[in-house]
Amino acid sequence: MTTTTIDPCPRCGAPCYDLVNGPGPEDDTAKVCMKDESRFYCVTCTCPREDPYSCNSPFFARVLPTPESTKKQLYNSITISCDDRRKLFQRRPDAHSSLRLQWITQLLRAARQLASAKAQEAADLWSVDYMFWIRLYGVLDDIKPFVTRLRTPMFAGDAAPRQRFEGTLQAINTVAALFTDDELLYIQYRRDEACHPVAEAYELSQRKDGRLVEEKTKTLLVRPVKHDDYDRAVEGVIKRYKPNEFAIACDFARRALPDLEALIAEALKIFA
Ligand SMILES: [Zn+2]
Ligand SMILES: [Zn+2]
Repeated sequence: MTTTTIDPCPRCGAPCYDLVNGPGPEDDTAKVCMKDESRFYCVTCTCPREDPYSCNSPFFARVLPTPESTKKQLYNSITISCDDRRKLFQRRPDAHSSLRLQWITQLLRAARQLASAKAQEAADLWSVDYMFWIRLYGVLDDIKPFVTRLRTPMFAGDAAPRQRFEGTLQAINTVAALFTDDELLYIQYRRDEACHPVAEAYELSQRKDGRLVEEKTKTLLVRPVKHDDYDRAVEGVIKRYKPNEFAIACDFARRALPDLEALIAEALKIFA
């Protein structure tokens, strides 16, 4: 019986036994590096025996690098220590899962109250109004990129995209698509007003070399917006509602409510 060894181990450089093209070492108790089509098992692994997240387990084995591997994928399959790697797996994807669910349920709850509110209830519902903007912005600006990251494969060779997270991401995109660019800027403006007593991001500022920064750099449109354009967008939305800002909250809530119900149904599948 012959033993084929091809290529050095990507992690430690020792000969890596190819389990697809050969039978592995003659002495099957020998400690050697091995690989199959997509994964490899390295003798430098220090994962404790029986650890379910071990890089010697079939589910969490280190992925073989490919020419297309990104720097981060290479780091995560080769360089990272066993301890850090297991921490990473254990952290994803469930940490703070209940907090994210809470933001979405509170958004839904605020939207339900506002959607059925009457104009004269504005004074009673002032705190619900604020909660609505803060939670809506949080879903669009924090939870969306978070779910996008979950959906993106972490390791080279993982199937892409990770379908489990697709439904929630689609549902958030559907909510975002209900609003025009000007309305998205208004959502951000109301949230910033609710969260920051000093609104520096809306002021002119200067770079270190003295040049003026005349735009708000981080916006829900995922591009910088000049302060003047931002003001025009917000004023335009307010004017349309003649200017009754409580009516804006109620109308946005009414428009979003069906899609927020759909979002919570999806979110419950991945967060608990
Ligand atoms: Zn090795
Ligand atoms: Zn390990």
